[in-house]
Amino acid sequence: MAIERTLSILKPDALQSGVVGKILTKFEESGLKPVAMRMLQLTQPEAEGFYAVHRERPFFKSLVAYMTSGPVIVQVLEGENAVAKNREVMGATNPANAADGTIRKLFAKSIEANSVHGSDSAENARTEIAYFFSQTELVKYDWARK
Ligand code: ADP
Ligand code: MG
Repeated sequence: MAIERTLSILKPDALQSGVVGKILTKFEESGLKPVAMRMLQLTQPEAEGFYAVHRERPFFKSLVAYMTSGPVIVQVLEGENAVAKNREVMGATNPANAADGTIRKLFAKSIEANSVHGSDSAENARTEIAYFFSQTELVKYDWARK
């Protein structure tokens, strides 16, 4: 399996509850490494653009309001099978259905305030990474080094 990259967001509830360190630890323990990381507060157009695929969903307006309600951390995670690995560590969208030990099971407040975002495919990961980061902002790791 090749080294892959995926976009991860620590959502407003994660920063509000002060669990950033614990969440980053979960990613580190899973073998994923951050290759870019930035703190920001999304504007309404930025959040609407990011979640454009969901614009017809009943929860879209509320989701955009929630995602702009406080600071977030956007990061690019790299590692073996990073897209699927990240989704596994995150847990199911609804924390009520998330497996034990996953970030959403441990920290999410609700199906909306569910602590983390993760790209759902390699193709979407490329688009989502480019939404927040330029190529020159991504650091390089030597994965052959132990
Ligand atoms: P995921 O983040 O697991 O990929 P989706 O892409 O389906 O989930 O949805 C994007 C985000 O929209 C979710 O992470 C969550 O914050 C919010 N969301 C999804 N479904 C609902 C819902 N039924 N009610 C409120 N918010 C929702
Ligand atoms: Mg999704």
